[in-house]
Amino acid sequence: MPGYMQPCRHCDRLVPPDSEVCPICGKWDPLGDPRCPRCRSPVKEGWTACSSCGQSLNIQCIACGRDTFFGGQCQHCGTRLMVRCQQRKCGFEQPPLAPSCAKCGKPISRGIR
Ligand SMILES: [Zn+2]
Ligand SMILES: [Zn+2]
Ligand SMILES: [Zn+2]
Ligand SMILES: [Zn+2]
Repeated sequence: MPGYMQPCRHCDRLVPPDSEVCPICGKWDPLGDPRCPRCRSPVKEGWTACSSCGQSLNIQCIACGRDTFFGGQCQHCGTRLMVRCQQRKCGFEQPPLAPSCAKCGKPISRGIR
């Protein structure tokens, strides 16, 4: 049963309550605090690692090369930092933190150099 739409904390537009990524502005975790991509513990923007599992939360921007928090877009140049799983049945979009898909576990090829 779908719940009520809730406002994205980044752009304030209404998104489905189970959204992992805002379909409007493209940022990760539109509702509530961002979550660790590995253990799903709440993390804060600006942290460099998850306090629960130690997963690194900083990634290198593919466009400007600077380190940025993983939350969807580069904090410096605004480039969208998402990779899409290339498994046909999966297609899950996620930050390029891990070498394998957070949903199906298959290796991800970034396709970007
Ligand atoms: Zn949004
Ligand atoms: Zn974690
Ligand atoms: Zn950048
Ligand atoms: Zn996948």
